Amino acid sequence: TSRQLVVSEKLAAIGEIAAGIAHEINNPIQVIQGNLDVMRVELDADAERVETELRLIDEQVHSIFLIVNKLLQFTRPDEYAESMEHHRPADVMTDTIPLVQHLLNKAEIALKLETPSLRAVAINRTEMQQVFINLIVNAIHAMPDGGALSLMVEDRGQGVSIVVADTGVGMSPEVLARIFDPFFTTKQGEGTGLGLSITRKLVELYDGTIEAESTAGSGTTFRVWFPEAKDM
Ligand code: ADP
Repeated sequence: TSRQLVVSEKLAAIGEIAAGIAHEINNPIQVIQGNLDVMRVELDADAERVETELRLIDEQVHSIFLIVNKLLQFTRPDEYAESMEHHRPADVMTDTIPLVQHLLNKAEIALKLETPSLRAVAINRTEMQQVFINLIVNAIHAMPDGGALSLMVEDRGQGVSIVVADTGVGMSPEVLARIFDPFFTTKQGEGTGLGLSITRKLVELYDGTIEAESTAGSGTTFRVWFPEAKDM
């Protein structure tokens, strides 16, 4: 069935990402291992050096934590089989707002919400919400001094278009060209660079598209499009 096809394509996509991740997780683990070995030798010697090594280990463990956590959001095998349902992206978007409201308040970001579309698409609800949260959280990160976040859901062609636009720091053309690459991040120590690569894989799995426009210094707009559910 087409559902089984989607499930196996999805597992293949995750396998591809996992290969990259295994490589990436290896780096922090080796730093941790190396520092533990050195510390064992130094334990009675120099307390200050031990302190530095502990900090390094701490940073690397945090890095592994971020990567693994991001992965866990997308690997829930139990949900694959029965998860394809029809949902209105406008409803999912409305339900997502309370999850990020405290972040918006804290960063003094004004929310502009326009969700006139009533069309439904065939996608897992949790995953659609994850796509929205990834884009919204990135937008919030881009507006550390406040700004405006616009969330729009509208009918477009034979489907539904979702727009997430911020008035944040924006991106240079060089950064913009790489945002969907796995592990590309400009958030040193805080980012995994996995959010947008996994978001794009998910969107494409459901025959959707995702694109970004950005101007350094004035903001970024992401457009996601999903085809309308056929058999409604
Ligand atoms: P992460 O957020 O962990 O860095 P992502 O894959 O979600 O990973 O994003 C990759 C990079 O794309 C970010 O580090 C940032 O440089 C850039 N980016 C994504 N969204 C925005 C945005 N709304 N405004 C500015 N830059 C963004």
